[in-house]
Amino acid sequence: MKPLSSNAAQIVTRFAPSPNGPMHLGHAYSAVVAHDLAKDAGGSFIVRIEDIDGARSRPDLIDEYLRNLEWLGLEWDEVPLQSTRLDSYDDAAQALLARGLLYPCTCTRKDIEKAGARHGPDGLIYPGTCKKKPFDPSKPAAFRLDVDKAMREVGEVEWVDDIAGTLVADPQMYGDVVLVRKDAPASYHLAATLDDAADGVTLVTRGKDLFSATHIHRLLQALLKLPVPRWHHHGLLLDDDGKKLAKRRGSPALAERREAGEDGLMLAEQLRLHKLKGGIFG
Ligand code: GLU
Repeated sequence: MKPLSSNAAQIVTRFAPSPNGPMHLGHAYSAVVAHDLAKDAGGSFIVRIEDIDGARSRPDLIDEYLRNLEWLGLEWDEVPLQSTRLDSYDDAAQALLARGLLYPCTCTRKDIEKAGARHGPDGLIYPGTCKKKPFDPSKPAAFRLDVDKAMREVGEVEWVDDIAGTLVADPQMYGDVVLVRKDAPASYHLAATLDDAADGVTLVTRGKDLFSATHIHRLLQALLKLPVPRWHHHGLLLDDDGKKLAKRRGSPALAERREAGEDGLMLAEQLRLHKLKGGIFG
């Protein structure tokens, strides 16, 4: 048996699915990577259920995700649910609001398009319309982070990715992101950042499609004085046409394969070895 290095037992990784659709192969790959990075070093692996999207989240799928992980031979240490942590998101948002770092925004997607917004890494960059005008409380509002002001408060901050190395956080590429949604108490950025801290995650493991989001998360950690983990943005499992595997492109649900009697341990091994028949790792 390999001796553990002195801090190896402290490695905590997570797999953080949103149960908005069935678990597919791309999720399985992400879970295997996060699980192995923790368990090979004697650390902990957390399965965090990101279930705060009231309109899309399907509680009936949570059990299916866990059954699939079991079938793949992955052992987890805890299963926190974001839906049980809404107060902590609200507290953080209130604190940022009190510091003048959030502003209400009543714009619809159409308003933002009409304002001639530029494209950023995750859709349109908000042109700042509501920052400049009085708030109309009769309309539903989201709350956006004033990124320029936040950057002036924290100065230059860095983050380290296992694969990409050290980067200087550049959250301005997103513009003023939403931290509190009109229809949910937190956006993905706020909830995931707070939860990684609450769960004691030391190595944030996720697909490289979320690489740029880390620029925002690092800024939030600096603003909220949260511990700073390392990141591991792994490559993606792609369809034959080179696109990320996703349910909406018809990638088969894992549950069907499990129920059809396929060997989950063998599938996990193929994912580890990047030897999936027909699978492309990008
Ligand atoms: N919940 C996100 C998803 O399913 C992943 C979030 C993360 O890993 O930071 O795409």
